[in-house]
Amino acid sequence: MSDSADAIVIGAGVIGSAVALELARGGRRVVVVDKGPAAGAGSTSSSSSIIRFSYSTVDAVLTAWEAAALWHDWEGHLGASDPDGMVRFIRTGMLIFHTPGDNTARIERLWNDVGIPYEHLGSDELAQRWPGFDIGAYFPPKRIDDPAFADDATGRLTAIFEPESGFIDDPALSARNLAYAARRHGVQFRFHTEVTGIDVRGGCVHGVSLEGGEQLRAPVVVNVGGPHSGIINRMAGADAGMRVGHRPLRQEVFTVPAAAAMTLDDGFPATADLDLGQYIRPQVGGTWLVGGTEPECDPLHWVDDPDHFDEYPTVEQFEVNMMRVARRVPGFGIPHRPVGLAALYDVADDWVPFYDKSDIAGFFMACGTSGNQFKNAPLAGKFLAAIIDHEAAGNDHDESPVQFTGARTGRTINLGAFSRRRSPSATSGTVMG
Ligand SMILES: Cc1cc2nc3c(=O)[nH]c(=O)nc-3n(C[C@H](O)[C@H](O)[C@H](O)COP(=O)(O)OP(=O)(O)OC[C@H]3O[C@@H](n4cnc5c(N)ncnc54)[C@H](O)[C@@H]3O)c2cc1C
Repeated sequence: MSDSADAIVIGAGVIGSAVALELARGGRRVVVVDKGPAAGAGSTSSSSSIIRFSYSTVDAVLTAWEAAALWHDWEGHLGASDPDGMVRFIRTGMLIFHTPGDNTARIERLWNDVGIPYEHLGSDELAQRWPGFDIGAYFPPKRIDDPAFADDATGRLTAIFEPESGFIDDPALSARNLAYAARRHGVQFRFHTEVTGIDVRGGCVHGVSLEGGEQLRAPVVVNVGGPHSGIINRMAGADAGMRVGHRPLRQEVFTVPAAAAMTLDDGFPATADLDLGQYIRPQVGGTWLVGGTEPECDPLHWVDDPDHFDEYPTVEQFEVNMMRVARRVPGFGIPHRPVGLAALYDVADDWVPFYDKSDIAGFFMACGTSGNQFKNAPLAGKFLAAIIDHEAAGNDHDESPVQFTGARTGRTINLGAFSRRRSPSATSGTVMG
């Protein structure tokens, strides 16, 4: 059996659903194929869903700032209200502790340029605003089996506070909201359906093969397979034309009771604590999410096969994370057992995503999202639609990259910044981007 569409999107995560919505808005007949059970059930469901603007390049900062406006007016962006519930943007602000050699000076220059508000906090002000913190500086981060972990602080922290950041209260629901809006534009979603091959002939994509032998035909195929996107690029032979690589990285995130007077309701901010190698973000219901920021002392767990990795958090990483939290927040009560998850980032070599075409005509990609692109999903859908339209109009996105104008700022985002052929971008080399 063979069926046809104008575009096939592989993956119904938050980014795949956003891509499908924007392609359908452009008048295309779109089919989304996902081997999972529902929109957002892949790595999106594990996301910490932090919305922040602390990136190392102007295009990345503008992208996050523009995308935030779409989350603020979610119903306006979707053009409808999902009867199954709508996600909410919850504003917390973002606290970033200074560390030696960090890139906060560059971030501040970019924020000044874009017009993102922030303030400097000296040690006294930091201690006064959030008295629950131990504001000792312990850099560099250490494992707990390192005797130096117990060393006294070498100084006192200072920070920048940016008030517009926050998080989305339910990442999987955000993908379902996008899928709801996409269906209203005629998008067809096929779940429990695995893509097993990409039909490439004469340097052009013609469609995909599904498990069971069915063929789906379309002149446009978009790879939004999250941690599986490397496999899908290889299926198509699209990996050969990439100058920057990408691969899955296993991550653990823990849910813990917040310390007293440091909950969301108390105004506790999302906190990037690169001094100890962790982030803490408040959660609805008096808890925190705690994750890592890839400090040099923590081994990186690269995964060869994204279908086979340990989905449960380890006691070892739990103990490291909990001791780090307890160091920063002396009033924190370490839980008796790990509650959390293990999931995969799809990490690009420079921690910058690919929103791009490929060397195969009609085959596009939105991947390499490096643990930091949930926030950009609604705009990523618009990026892919713009790139696909640009190519359909006879342009070459490699030669003349799309210059995307942001509705919030009127500023131009050079989508060449997300090219598979870029020279690796100068970033923090971590999830911070
Ligand atoms: C633990 C964790 C914390 C994070 N925290 C943040 C954060 O705080 N802020 C932020 O901005 N970003 C964060 N991210 C990153 C963000 O969540 C991801 O970039 C984003 O969710 C990726 O969405 P996606 O649609 O590309 O992929 P996914 O949600 O992974 O969707 C891919 C889909 O493709 C399907 N698929 C794969 N292979 C096939 C196939 N062969 N056939 C059919 N279907 C297939 C899968 O079933 C899946 O549903 C985090 C990620 C993780 C894992």
